[in-house]
Amino acid sequence: MKSNATRHILSISGGKDSAALAVYLRNKIPSIEYVFCDTGEELDETYAYLARVEAYLGSTIKVLKQEGRDFRHCLIIYNNYLPSPQMRWCTKHLKIIPFEKYVGDDHVINYIGIRADEDRDGYISRKRNITARYPFKDDGIKKEDVFRILDEAGLGLPEYYKWRSRSGCYFCFFQQKIEWVGLLENHPELFKRAMAYEKTDPESGVRFTWGDNESLEELSRPERVAQIKAEHKEKIERRPNKAKGLLIDIFAEMADEEDENNRACFICSL
Ligand code: SF4
Repeated sequence: MKSNATRHILSISGGKDSAALAVYLRNKIPSIEYVFCDTGEELDETYAYLARVEAYLGSTIKVLKQEGRDFRHCLIIYNNYLPSPQMRWCTKHLKIIPFEKYVGDDHVINYIGIRADEDRDGYISRKRNITARYPFKDDGIKKEDVFRILDEAGLGLPEYYKWRSRSGCYFCFFQQKIEWVGLLENHPELFKRAMAYEKTDPESGVRFTWGDNESLEELSRPERVAQIKAEHKEKIERRPNKAKGLLIDIFAEMADEEDENNRACFICSL
């Protein structure tokens, strides 16, 4: 049934920006609803961070997922074609549709954590009854403010930022090679699970891999891992005027530098 009152919804991804936005808006919009679109393929660190955010907010973060339509189910529907930046069916089925179902026909203001220092706009749904708002952009909140907000709230950052630049599925195809290495070293069992999704069509020989031109089996070979690490180190050292100290800064910079087509969707990664 359609509600006449405008609903205020913040979709929390498990990443730093949406968590900071939740803290920022907590006392400004008392009726705000918090949701998390759970793909069922998230990292344990994400759930742990969400639990901390929830405790801080003193409100439940409602978990949204479509029963019986998990990643494996969708993969079958898509003939085993793994999702990719060009074919983001995972975001559509595992994040956006559950969100839109939750919203229904109600008029909703959807708060999005894009910061003032980011040169992009974003909208996660095309439904006309959903209006996007960007409080960080409106109020000039930048990356350093996000860190401060989370610090002051006692939340800090999600653990995965030590080896990965964003929230979302452990197998997310937006990962850089060094992040796949991070997955291999921090969650070898999840790396294996991601690897198991990669297939070669026995008839055509076509390979279904998460990344371009390289399977995870190839990427995980010790000499390749050493090469990726060396290249990453070199990349960091070539950044003379950029953040060098914290890995989170370096990862965040790299994510900020990605072009629009190669960026994870807001609902997954903010
Ligand atoms: S995190 Fe990556 S793999 Fe997961 S739904 Fe989002 S885009 Fe797809």
